[in-house]
Amino acid sequence: MINTSSALKIVLENAPLLGVKNVSLLDSLGRVPSHDIIASQDLPPFNNSSMDGFAVASSNLRRASAKHPRTLKVIGESSAGRAFAGKVTSGQVVRVMTGALMPRGADAVVPIEKVVECETERVRFLESPKPGQHIRSRGEDIRRGQIVLKSGMPVTSAALAVLAACGYSRLRVRRKPRVSILPTGNELVGITEKPKRGQIRCSSSYALAGYVEGAGGIPKLLGIAPDTKSRLRKGIKAGLGSDVLLLTGGVSVGKYDFVGEVLADLGVEIKFWKVNIKPGKPLLFGKWRKVLVFGLPGNPVSTSVTFLQFVRPALLKMCGWQDVQPMTFSALLDHDFSKSDGKRHYLRGVAVQRKGELRVSATGSQSSGAMSSMVKANCLMIIPEDAATLHKGDRVEIEFL
Ligand code: AMP
Ligand code: MG
Repeated sequence: MINTSSALKIVLENAPLLGVKNVSLLDSLGRVPSHDIIASQDLPPFNNSSMDGFAVASSNLRRASAKHPRTLKVIGESSAGRAFAGKVTSGQVVRVMTGALMPRGADAVVPIEKVVECETERVRFLESPKPGQHIRSRGEDIRRGQIVLKSGMPVTSAALAVLAACGYSRLRVRRKPRVSILPTGNELVGITEKPKRGQIRCSSSYALAGYVEGAGGIPKLLGIAPDTKSRLRKGIKAGLGSDVLLLTGGVSVGKYDFVGEVLADLGVEIKFWKVNIKPGKPLLFGKWRKVLVFGLPGNPVSTSVTFLQFVRPALLKMCGWQDVQPMTFSALLDHDFSKSDGKRHYLRGVAVQRKGELRVSATGSQSSGAMSSMVKANCLMIIPEDAATLHKGDRVEIEFL
């Protein structure tokens, strides 16, 4: 049995970076570019007004005040998309709108709220503007040649806007991992079937498919494999055509748990089996050529927890992410907790902010079969291997789900 951090290290060392694909800008959302993305131009691309008002030469209004207003002539207008062709000279101003190109000769904008518009095409200024005021100057946001998105960072909605502004209609991103999901168990039936005595519907594959999508992969549900070596072989062979194969169940020490044996028979190199974690101890991890193979425990909560701790980071790494581990936060435990097995525990918890502190409590039964505890949870609490007794008010690390 190995500890959780060594297990994760082995998984990540074995997770290959996937190839690159050219996709449309919208399709790049959530995916990771294969290289740093450099700004193709300055943003904003030209000096423009940040207010509706008047473009002025500030030197013209140096002595303007409420007591000694100065009246200047409006010689034209510059609106967004329709630039003023001429030049502002002494005694003149140009009406400008937000986003409009700054007219030549003007070096400041006085907002419309700050002036008095008198008779037609004359404006009275009651204060002296600072040079540069209310102008967004070329390149002040992003300079041409600057990195706008570092490789290893996923494209966010906000990044889409910057990439669009630079005119990038297509991007080179890592392709999505194809993940086959193979549930195993004689007791399992499909969700459209009525379970007979002793049978249950196969449910975990749906949770896994959801998690896979959430981690940027493409899930493929394979049919249920009963607990026979020949049927397992068939299912596993089909799954080895993907980038990742996730099996559930049959990986513990029961009489009909053949997953490990069949994987080894088919030439899958078993990297580890059994991790010092609760729930999820029977986890198996192996590799066949470039394909990662996970034998996830059958108990549905164990399936979810081991996916989140081991499979998700692997998928993110394959997709090109730099930071693949979940961010942790410190919270105050709302009740006592004790354990004596020396394992790392992941408790399903609900964390809320109260009086400026995150407080967390477990969601009822922590049995590895109780999916309701996972559904209610908004976080997992991490109780380290060496912790034995925790009291209400002690600090614990949590990962939001
Ligand atoms: P196993 O790891 O095969 O011994 O399974 C442990 C427990 O998880 C058993 O109660 C199984 O019925 C249950 N289980 C296994 N696979 C699934 C599945 N795909 N959906 C729901 N429960 C499952
Ligand atoms: Mg089973």
